[in-house]
Amino acid sequence: MASALTATEKTAAVEAFTALGVCEELATAAADLGWKDPSEIQRASIPQALQGKDVIGLAQTGSGKTGAFALPILQELLDKPQAFFALVLSPTRELAIQISEQFEALGAGIGVKCAVLVGGVDMMAQSIQLGKRPHVVVGTPGRVVDHLTNTKGFGLKQLQVLCLDEADRLLNLDFEQEIDQILKVIPRDRRTQLFSATMTSKVAKLQRACLRNPVKVEVSAKYSTVDSLKQQYLFVPAKHKDCYACYLFNELSASTMMVFTRTCDQTRKLALVARNLGFGAIPIHGQMSQPKRLGALNKFKAGERNVLVATDVASRGLDIPAVDVVINFDVPQNSKDYVHRVGRTARAGRSGLAITLVTQYDVELYQKIERLINKKLDAYPAPEEAVLLMHERVNEAQRIALQQIREADEKGGGKKRNRDGDGDDDARLMTIMGKRGGGGRGGGGRGGGGRGRGRR
Ligand code: AMP
Repeated sequence: MASALTATEKTAAVEAFTALGVCEELATAAADLGWKDPSEIQRASIPQALQGKDVIGLAQTGSGKTGAFALPILQELLDKPQAFFALVLSPTRELAIQISEQFEALGAGIGVKCAVLVGGVDMMAQSIQLGKRPHVVVGTPGRVVDHLTNTKGFGLKQLQVLCLDEADRLLNLDFEQEIDQILKVIPRDRRTQLFSATMTSKVAKLQRACLRNPVKVEVSAKYSTVDSLKQQYLFVPAKHKDCYACYLFNELSASTMMVFTRTCDQTRKLALVARNLGFGAIPIHGQMSQPKRLGALNKFKAGERNVLVATDVASRGLDIPAVDVVINFDVPQNSKDYVHRVGRTARAGRSGLAITLVTQYDVELYQKIERLINKKLDAYPAPEEAVLLMHERVNEAQRIALQQIREADEKGGGKKRNRDGDGDDDARLMTIMGKRGGGGRGGGGRGGGGRGRGRR
């Protein structure tokens, strides 16, 4: 979360937002969230949306696009208060929840009511929310269709604004059919906003099908990464990969980190290895239950953990404030995912660092990324002798992690394996460092002296 503004900054922020046509009440709400200035996408799209135009926004992750569509929706709602005023579709559950949180934060002063319709959560509880006639519904397409079909009294005939967030991803996840179903039951006469990181042919088709003379606003070149992001690679022998990762956790232990791996199993294992060494690591991946995923995310957001180990499920859309560092433990197989992953840091004008571990097997994949972003990256300095000082402890942590995974799977029984665990509820999980939980220094490297595990 951005820090509070001084009185002078707040006055300037309110002025900057009102200059775009945002009313004073909402401009103040934005300033209260610590937003000093409208972001580029907000500058480009808010005035258009406020004039009632359909908008296609091409913006990279972290550009402030949620504010770009939420502020005009809230302003129109102020003028014309009405239940089921806007529907926002998002590709993931977590993103839907974060969007509704941003609506609620910006709309707190005007008493906006939101309902979140996502899978993995009881339909009944959501029906009760819908019974309260919310102004804004945010959801994943599948669950929205479920409610349209099964929840008595719920309809979107009065809808004024439809917003498709991360449209490219919505379509990649095969939500096309559900989106079509939704389009059939909402009024043609409405305003539509479509946001996407990339303009794929599917997005163009959707645009033609559901927008009217849209204004296109684009604030970043395709696949560019922001300037405040420092990107480096680290060449590591595959057999010492965990050791190098733990070296980085130690070197960067004052930072918040997101670490990306390729598979759920790898995510789970790496988080346990790091935990066993005393780092504040927690996993998030697609095989965890929804409450566990949200629990992990909340612990990370609350600063109880500083290392979030994730698969690409978590790599887009999650609004995680102040991630200082992104570590690509595995080089992403799809180079576009690289851009989405590193988009977790250097958000909204802050600086950030992204480090990609490259083994002897990943060179080709890595070169594809350099070509895509059109940059040759520098190496992150990691002296081998300093890294390998941790070798024995990392080996021991790996051995214990594998045992913990075996035991958890056995406890889960048979096919229904218990893949949720972040080790938190495992009383046995005492760290090799003789500490529990976050903040420990696992390393034997240089860094560390005097640096607290600060949170920003
Ligand atoms: P988004 O691209 O919507 O996921 O936003 C990324 C982050 O930027 C969120 O934490 C927002 O709260 C924050 N943000 C949005 N607009 C601004 C702004 N104008 N100034 C500073 N931060 C912002």
